[in-house]
Amino acid sequence: MKVFKFGGASVKDASSVRNIGVILKDYSDDLVVVISAMGKTTNALEQVLHAYLAGDRPLALSGLHAIRDYHLEIARSLISQRGHALFNELDNIFTGMERRLDHQPTGSYNQEYDQLVSLGEIISTIIVSNYLNYSGIANEWTDARLYLKTDGTFREGKVEWDITDRLIRKRFDFSGTHLYITQGFIGSTVNNLTTTLGREGSDYTAAILAYVLSADSVTVWKDVPGVLNADPKWFDDTIRLERISYMDAIELAYYGASVIHPKTIQPLKNKGIRLYVKSFLHPSDPGTVIGENDYEKLIPSFIFKMDQVLIHVYPVDFSFIAEDNLEKIFRCFAGYGLKINLMQNSAVSFDVCVNNDRSRIPGVLADLEKEFRVSSTTGLELITIRYYDNATISRVLVNKDLLLTQRTRNTIQMVVKDLGEASVVSEKSNVKNEKRKMKNEK
Ligand code: ASP
Ligand code: MG
Repeated sequence: MKVFKFGGASVKDASSVRNIGVILKDYSDDLVVVISAMGKTTNALEQVLHAYLAGDRPLALSGLHAIRDYHLEIARSLISQRGHALFNELDNIFTGMERRLDHQPTGSYNQEYDQLVSLGEIISTIIVSNYLNYSGIANEWTDARLYLKTDGTFREGKVEWDITDRLIRKRFDFSGTHLYITQGFIGSTVNNLTTTLGREGSDYTAAILAYVLSADSVTVWKDVPGVLNADPKWFDDTIRLERISYMDAIELAYYGASVIHPKTIQPLKNKGIRLYVKSFLHPSDPGTVIGENDYEKLIPSFIFKMDQVLIHVYPVDFSFIAEDNLEKIFRCFAGYGLKINLMQNSAVSFDVCVNNDRSRIPGVLADLEKEFRVSSTTGLELITIRYYDNATISRVLVNKDLLLTQRTRNTIQMVVKDLGEASVVSEKSNVKNEKRKMKNEK
């Protein structure tokens, strides 16, 4: 059997959903298909949640109605039969959501988040499954909350492997169908409270299913031709990587390439299951294969993280940054859940590069200031190059002020400040400085 995963962009409108039908109709193998919420629905649901928690019912309702109308339009375009059961199902879900907004929140932010935001995947899979059955592609809709069990860490559920393993084997026995449609990203606790696996977690769901069912392969269908050596948002001349090793895939994801959710690779690597990344627009093109490939030195890959902050920590008494100080510093970052993208220490200071996370940084700074002298620089970029050489380094440093560099044999990371206005796009570099600036301003 195989596992397919379709992300939000591949179900963003009716024609995209029809395209999934085109891809699936030629498949007679046993298949589990994992699907995300449609388009930008997860973001939209987050907005509804925020309005609801802020007590702004009219705003929450109007957001919810926009989400409802968007889905209804897609559903109507896919299924012309007026009284089809799908419409009743959708109606029940949206009425339920509306009712939820009438009541005071009872749980924590994270718990409320999972109960509401998870419905994006439920709605999306109900529509796709009904459409496929309607158009002659027989399939069985399966609720991930019934087999993917996690602990109670809302928004970051940790998989309870033993029970999940048992439930997945039982549910996906392929006795009545050869095609299952299910949700990514969502699961539930043993007490049946809905949980989620963290943003972009659908890839991880696909990997969990593939691992337990010992799949032949996983295919993640995307709107790009495969894993590219840079994000086309920032680069004009991107190149598709044909084959990459699990190790490289993990590293690229770790440094922030939006290839694949970082947790996805481990379960696949453990069973030697190959991961294909392919274009849903050109399904017969080869894409990228991630597997136990022999080490080949890859072409350079570029990863840009914008809106970075460099936090500088100095001990008040100029004592060295020694283990006891480092321990205090790390405890502080961990305590606020602020993820460190890069760090560097010298004899008398310690520099940490983080995303500009406005909900976490002020707390971290306040805590650090109790023990250290602290300053920070905002508006920076973190550039990572895997398999770098001198030419690639100069290419990305055009019109940048280099603040910090860290290199290992295969990877270089640089914290830079864009020199802004005077910026000229170098002919040679093709780096989209203009676009990057626009992105920064958002
Ligand atoms: N819909 C969820 C998100 O946008 C999960 C996913 O797409 O992987 O984060
Ligand atoms: Mg999504």
